Amino acid sequence: MAGDRLSRRDVLGGLMTAAAVGAAARGTVLASPAAGEIRRSAGILRLGANENPIGLGPAARAAFLAAADEANRYPGRVWDTLLSQLTTQHGVDSSWIHLTPGSGELLRAATAAFTGPAKSLVIAAPTYETPARTASAGGATVHAVPVTSEGRLDLDGMLAKAAGAGMIFVCNPNNPTGGSVAATALADFVTKLKGVAPEAHVLVDEAYFEYADEPGYATAVPLAIANPRVLVTRTFSKVFGMAGLRLGYAIAHPDTLSELQTRGSSTGMLSVATLAAGGAAFGDTAHLAGERERNKTLRRTTREKFEAAGYRVLPSAANFLMIDIRRDIGSFGSTCRRNGIMVARPFPPLSTFMRLTIGTEAEMAEAVPAILELLSAPTSARLRDGFGGPGDWPPAYGC
Ligand code: PMP
Repeated sequence: MAGDRLSRRDVLGGLMTAAAVGAAARGTVLASPAAGEIRRSAGILRLGANENPIGLGPAARAAFLAAADEANRYPGRVWDTLLSQLTTQHGVDSSWIHLTPGSGELLRAATAAFTGPAKSLVIAAPTYETPARTASAGGATVHAVPVTSEGRLDLDGMLAKAAGAGMIFVCNPNNPTGGSVAATALADFVTKLKGVAPEAHVLVDEAYFEYADEPGYATAVPLAIANPRVLVTRTFSKVFGMAGLRLGYAIAHPDTLSELQTRGSSTGMLSVATLAAGGAAFGDTAHLAGERERNKTLRRTTREKFEAAGYRVLPSAANFLMIDIRRDIGSFGSTCRRNGIMVARPFPPLSTFMRLTIGTEAEMAEAVPAILELLSAPTSARLRDGFGGPGDWPPAYGC
């Protein structure tokens, strides 16, 4: 009897209801954590990987769940929707945008395409590590230029190492130090680079763009539009809360993007759920504004607490702080982990600095006093608490 047949939507509705019931019972799946919540992962408070503790906002969550309805279809409509949002935002046509499963993939592909045994890579020290690892694996020389005492990129120092470079990696704001460089300084750098290394590409990694609020900071997209040797990368892993769904993109001249594609960047499809969530997240400007504000407030209060306790904190335009704890971060990080808090791994050469990701309000209210207490414990107690050596450091992915 036709009237007895369940439509596909009814079935999915039923499945979602069952999922909702299960989730409500577990109290974890369907609702984003509120500012007052603490979410431990295997008993650990995760403040080490620059993840967004809130996750998907309401619109992205609804789109992600609704994508179950399209799971049997190859992505088309959602792909076009996201692409048109991005082209409108950046004032380019779709041939200037390359979507990938996360932006780390783009860093790898660009480094593989533009560096090699005769074309070096110039980076900051410390900075996000994918380009250096890729370049070394491909036999390229890596020139690592120390950041300034404030943790900002030393663009003049990087320029001084640029002769013979195939690529300069500009992480802005810089992970793990947090500071940004001004748009005018970067434009000046790109102009001067033409005289020193006319063939070099500049990859500007804007993973933390949405959080950046330092005076003079602006996107490098206009530089990429004006100059085919400049590429900009963005990710949905940070303010958009989608690290687990994997979505990133590059903005660059179409010829530059084809070089990436022909030299190994993934051209594979992204899932309907990822694209749908990405489009909805991008359009949920109210949620994004709230997220930026939440991060900014907690970043300030967290900074104040460490500074009041006598620790120096570098300027940060991102969702983490770099704090000089004046002791080896390797063993102190292990101590934190044994006490239920994951902070970031060591970032040499800043071996006495701890990178702490901004979690929810409740997470910071628990973690900051706990870390300060561990810092005030006698050294012998700290050493007794620590793991044995560097091999004990927990594996970290993409942070
Ligand atoms: N660039 C920077 C500066 C990052 O910090 C990260 C991840 N933490 C990435 C790129 C890669 O992020 P994803 O692959 O998740 O887009």
